[in-house]
Amino acid sequence: MTKVLITGGAGFLGANLARRLVKEGCQVTVLDNLYTGRLSNLEGVPVTFIQQDVREPIPEADYDVIYNLACPASPPHYQRESLFTLLTCIDGMRNVLELARRCKAIVIHASTSEIYGDPEVHPQPERYWGHVNTLGIRSCYDEGKRVAETLSLEYARAYGVDVRLVRIFNTYGPYMDPKDGRVVSNFILQALKNEAFTLFGTGEQTRSFQFVDDLIDAFVLYAQKTAAECRAFFSEKGVTLPVLNVGNPGEFTMRELAETILRLLPDCTSAMTYAPLPGDDPKRRRPDNTWAKDFLGWAPRVPLEEGLKATIAYFRTTL
Ligand code: UDP
Repeated sequence: MTKVLITGGAGFLGANLARRLVKEGCQVTVLDNLYTGRLSNLEGVPVTFIQQDVREPIPEADYDVIYNLACPASPPHYQRESLFTLLTCIDGMRNVLELARRCKAIVIHASTSEIYGDPEVHPQPERYWGHVNTLGIRSCYDEGKRVAETLSLEYARAYGVDVRLVRIFNTYGPYMDPKDGRVVSNFILQALKNEAFTLFGTGEQTRSFQFVDDLIDAFVLYAQKTAAECRAFFSEKGVTLPVLNVGNPGEFTMRELAETILRLLPDCTSAMTYAPLPGDDPKRRRPDNTWAKDFLGWAPRVPLEEGLKATIAYFRTTL
């Protein structure tokens, strides 16, 4: 039986991943400090739960795979205690890599499209180095995640840890926290309550929204690859560590997102209101998914409207 540890497993992604892995017969342990994760996300899911901060050394056990998802990920949450966020990225990654080094687990690390910052290359391929402000309000997360990638590289070099990076683009779906503060959860909840949509800036900035099931498919496929398969594919690409963009390339402005939600909820009377754009907010974002397609044989399958319908159904249950 495959033994899996999910750090941050009580959060949005972890709750979806734990469900999938349990269904597939894995023995799942979740480590979470419940900073943004919620125990209710795991209700009825047979996992071993450890309430602990990933910045502290992780209790020894023999895992086959460790998914490192522990970090607040929405801008309002990761900016709330920015030093905590930065250290969660760095110390958490280090603790995961130390454990993996000892138990020889494969590490699947949740990196992020944020490592590209406000990108000057569009769409963003993995080889793009990014355009990140080291001193802005998003730096605690962006730079923390960049260091986590570098730490991964150094542990792979120094100790042969098998670590695989996933640069996750905007993802939405059931088990998102209603208080997450991200655009999809905000807009759906505003629409369900007939409150005005809060568009930041002009609403013309774009994002590419991926339904969570598609991401979980990619996670699972990635973990099934052998180290030799990873080496062969990524060394041919000229990168030093396995790294994949995982996201849906469908690109929408925030105004289009609001309009799509309005179409799905025809009785909704929400108007559009505008608020200033937060600092360093990326203007455009869209993954180049070629490597994930070629390596995993994966492609996102859930179109925006379909994923939004499932997410709206979930948020109705939270009202
Ligand atoms: N945004 C918005 N209204 C909101 C929340 C976010 O217009 O209520 C914008 C935000 O400024 C950004 C985009 O939506 O341009 C995506 O924001 P989110 O926080 O979901 O994720 P990000 O990709 O910025 O990390």
